Amino acid sequence: MSTNKSADTYVIEPLDNPTLPVRGSDKLFPVHRIYCIGRNYAAHAVEMGHDPDKEPPFFFQKNPDNLLVGQDFPYPPESTDVHYELEMVVGLAKGGKSIPIETALDHVFGYGVGLDMTRRDLQNEAKKQGRPWEVGKAFEQSAPCSELIPVSAIGHPDQGAVWLKVNGEVRQEGDLNQMLWKTAEQISILSRFFELQPGDLIMTGTPSGVGPVKRGDKLEGHVAGVCNLKVNVI
Ligand code: MN
Repeated sequence: MSTNKSADTYVIEPLDNPTLPVRGSDKLFPVHRIYCIGRNYAAHAVEMGHDPDKEPPFFFQKNPDNLLVGQDFPYPPESTDVHYELEMVVGLAKGGKSIPIETALDHVFGYGVGLDMTRRDLQNEAKKQGRPWEVGKAFEQSAPCSELIPVSAIGHPDQGAVWLKVNGEVRQEGDLNQMLWKTAEQISILSRFFELQPGDLIMTGTPSGVGPVKRGDKLEGHVAGVCNLKVNVI
């Protein structure tokens, strides 16, 4: 799908494809899809009222144009309970179907730090009614994200601190080694259900400590071996 903005080609002007900056490069990472994994840290599963045992992973999606890069997070409409969820982000350089766990990491371009911002009141209502999660999860600017750091620079981070501070106070704290489903497993399992594509992002789940934000809050997230992400709520 090449972007051709010629008025001869399209009946309306197509939007630009979402991208992420890449550390150490003038080139951009083109984002194809955003997959998110739910309840991937046991302590977070418990705080959300679920069994911490390793149940099969489940996935949902945000829209690529929900990404927010280098800008403030505007408090979204129709919610009074918007939560932060700090997560490591995986960017794929190669796609595929039924990718074996053993070779899954070869598909990774790089890693970043993201926030799975969630209208928790709308998500909770959707859960109660057995409805889809999109209104809670896939709204505009719901995916603040850092630059991607290439594997060539940092390898494949799989242990080390993951934290989120709100106005300088630590609210979320965990370790990458607490992920129930590791990055390679996430890629492998996802690729059984979907044909993954270059440019797909995976948000790898959040440690415990999720909570609400309000306008004026300053969020700072950290994933060891990757980078930090700072976002102001306005
Ligand atoms: Mn999440």
